[in-house]
Amino acid sequence: MTISFVDALKEDDRAALRAAPKVDLHCHAFFSTRRRNLERRLGCSLEPPPARMNKLGGMIVYAMDVLDPHLRNRETIEFVVESAVRDAIKDGVVVLEMSLDIRRAAYYADGLVGVENHIRALADQYRPQIDLRPELGIPRQAASDPELMPLAHEALESGFFQSIDLYDHQEACEPEAVEDLYAKAGAAGMKRKAHVGEFGGAEEVRRTVELLGLDEVQHGIGAAESVEVMRWLAENRIRLNVCPTSNVMLDAAPDLARHPIRALFDNGVPVTINTDDPMIFDQSVSDEYRNLYQAGIFSAEELDGIRRASLADTAV
Ligand SMILES: [Zn+2]
Repeated sequence: MTISFVDALKEDDRAALRAAPKVDLHCHAFFSTRRRNLERRLGCSLEPPPARMNKLGGMIVYAMDVLDPHLRNRETIEFVVESAVRDAIKDGVVVLEMSLDIRRAAYYADGLVGVENHIRALADQYRPQIDLRPELGIPRQAASDPELMPLAHEALESGFFQSIDLYDHQEACEPEAVEDLYAKAGAAGMKRKAHVGEFGGAEEVRRTVELLGLDEVQHGIGAAESVEVMRWLAENRIRLNVCPTSNVMLDAAPDLARHPIRALFDNGVPVTINTDDPMIFDQSVSDEYRNLYQAGIFSAEELDGIRRASLADTAV
């Protein structure tokens, strides 16, 4: 008999941790499978990232030097997503909101249609084990790109994507530059997310949530510097999809034991626990729960509460 999630944490039963249903609401398709799966496919080993990278810039240097040279063809990027879905199923993930970068369309002769056909077939293949929900990923630099912005609007109009996300270097665009796109996503009933407060502060989180009408924030941990902003997020039920290992490795949090997720939780902000880029950070959702428990951040009961709430919030 499988033991409960609470007992699995206390007894460090990794199989039982994996068996418990979970969600992953913050996962980028390009780097979504574990590095070892890509190594097996390529037949070579890939240098692991340094334990600490210098913010987003440091991660991009690693990704461009080590991973990207292997990810420049359609077959491999399709393999990565397919392998990620299998990883997620093995880890007990039942809802996977996969962020598909708009630049992915360039890998297909028929552009966005090719992306949609691949992901639709994959979702059909693995249903009902996992609910694979396509998310439209917009890098901030796309806001000033004369080809990518019209493509992003076209992607929204296709009705395929269930949510939208914005990421990459904060300085590449102010949120105002994508206001129209987000208004359109909201009118279409899509869930609106954006990366903010990963390295920046609380006011930036509040301003972006208000301006873009965000339902959820990717990371958002900078909100912890302001009790007022945390209360505001809590009152408005704005959930933060947090990725603890990513935050530590990118120097957004000093270490797991001092991760701001505890302060956010204590101030009533809804949080979920997610992977971000498993190819880089090398942790599954179950690993992230286990790490938080072992670092003494949450009790087993609190982690089970977070897990159950995330399942209830994403139920269709
Ligand atoms: Zn992210």
